[in-house]
Amino acid sequence: MTAPAELAEIVGEHRVSVHPQDLHRHSGDRSPAALLARRMGRRLARPLCVVRPRTTKHVAQIVEWANATKTPLVPYGGGSGVTDGIRPDRAVVVELRAMNEIRDFDEKSRLVRAECGVLGSDLDNALHGWGFMLGHQPQSIQISTVGGWVSTGAVGQLSSRYGGIEDLVAGMEAVLPDGRIVRTKGTPRTATGPDVASLLIGAEGTLGIVTEVTLRVSALPPARLDLCVRFEHMAEGVAACRKIAQEDLDPTMMRLYDRDDAAIFLRNHPDEPRDPFMILSFEGFDAPARMEEAFRLARGERGNDSLVDHWWVHRNDLVHEYLNLMDGTGLLGPHAMVETMEVSARWSDLRDVYHAMKDALGAQADIVGCHLSHHYIDGACLYFSIGSACDSDDDAAAKLESWWEAGMSACIEAGGSISHHHGIGRRRARWLPTELGGWWDVLVALKKTLDPNGIMNPGALGL
Ligand SMILES: Cc1cc2nc3c(=O)[nH]c(=O)nc-3n(C[C@H](O)[C@H](O)[C@H](O)COP(=O)(O)OP(=O)(O)OC[C@H]3O[C@@H](n4cnc5c(N)ncnc54)[C@H](O)[C@@H]3O)c2cc1C
Repeated sequence: MTAPAELAEIVGEHRVSVHPQDLHRHSGDRSPAALLARRMGRRLARPLCVVRPRTTKHVAQIVEWANATKTPLVPYGGGSGVTDGIRPDRAVVVELRAMNEIRDFDEKSRLVRAECGVLGSDLDNALHGWGFMLGHQPQSIQISTVGGWVSTGAVGQLSSRYGGIEDLVAGMEAVLPDGRIVRTKGTPRTATGPDVASLLIGAEGTLGIVTEVTLRVSALPPARLDLCVRFEHMAEGVAACRKIAQEDLDPTMMRLYDRDDAAIFLRNHPDEPRDPFMILSFEGFDAPARMEEAFRLARGERGNDSLVDHWWVHRNDLVHEYLNLMDGTGLLGPHAMVETMEVSARWSDLRDVYHAMKDALGAQADIVGCHLSHHYIDGACLYFSIGSACDSDDDAAAKLESWWEAGMSACIEAGGSISHHHGIGRRRARWLPTELGGWWDVLVALKKTLDPNGIMNPGALGL
């Protein structure tokens, strides 16, 4: 029997697809490399079939079958990943969107238990109906899933207040590479040995399939207060971000744009000055006083506060603009190449990482904007947006490779971490051993122990 026929016996014929369009659609993620290959009409690695489990038991049976037949499996959530983490060469794609139920809402404990394939915006909308919201608000919320968030170690735009996905995950159910189903208890904190379940956060499908996630949720906040501050130099803005992050001011959102990123942000606001600027929002207890103190600490000039509202309204528009740019119908013309590199650095290294990457990338691309998008007491995320109107698609492909070489080398040399939230996939895999040092061997040993047949998303994370 063929792989699709054997899988049909497990999940039913209607849950296995070999339709050419289905295979094409699931042959890659939304990384620039995959989108460029599509634009160039290059054939991407086609999966053997797409299987759509409906239950955790289905997932376990599929994984058992894969082990018995030594067939690679590639989990697929929303396919919104941007690191080339999905390349199902002679593999079966396990498309998880049919597992889309909210299994439980514990209002008293503020916990929602959702199947892995629930789309972020569907879960958030459901919570709104009950007066709650997800603290996790990635730009890709409409095209990404709960299981994908956990598997990539994602971070939402409101992380300053609510934290990254690792702070919001209270429990998990998963299927390990041998088909075993494991669950965590979902209590607020434990001191019960190493947090082994957290191995699946950021594992990108290499250590198992996350089938259910329990997330901490928040009450819908009362009115929001917005603040915009302008600076003459980026360094003044960085100092402001650090001071605000290190005080007890708790902005819901805080972003600082450098001059080049300001030009991207303000492309539809020709009258606004292109100085570095910061936007912040405050909600909840004592918000006016916290905002006033943030402005005092920032020591900048009051900017146009309506830009903050503009950000809230249009914060997810870039999803479509990015896809338009990459299919050659956007502002950068038919051979456009755009990429993002989000890295992190301690405050003491941040200036070096910023300049090193800006110089290295700036020597090669038409546009290199940077903003600080997520802040911590000890440092921040530097988010670089890179773009060029290339001469040809081959030129675009070559530029992409040299941007990554230049950007990652500069980041590592200056003391930064190679990814803050997009993950590794295949794109960053060759820098991961350097990044992890001695922990790389531990990861390899774990992979060999848990997945001796190497069936789970081979190639992602370089494993
Ligand atoms: C325009 C745009 C904006 C974005 N904005 C953000 C942002 O604000 N913050 C952010 O963090 N990221 C962002 N991303 C990146 C992306 O949306 C995230 O990485 C997201 O978490 C991926 O979720 P997904 O469901 O689409 O996963 P997929 O792309 O389907 O998969 C990503 C990886 O996880 C694995 N995987 C998926 N589901 C499971 C599962 N249930 N169990 C095990 N492995 C699984 C896949 O095999 C793959 O390796 C953005 C992407 C785009 C295109």
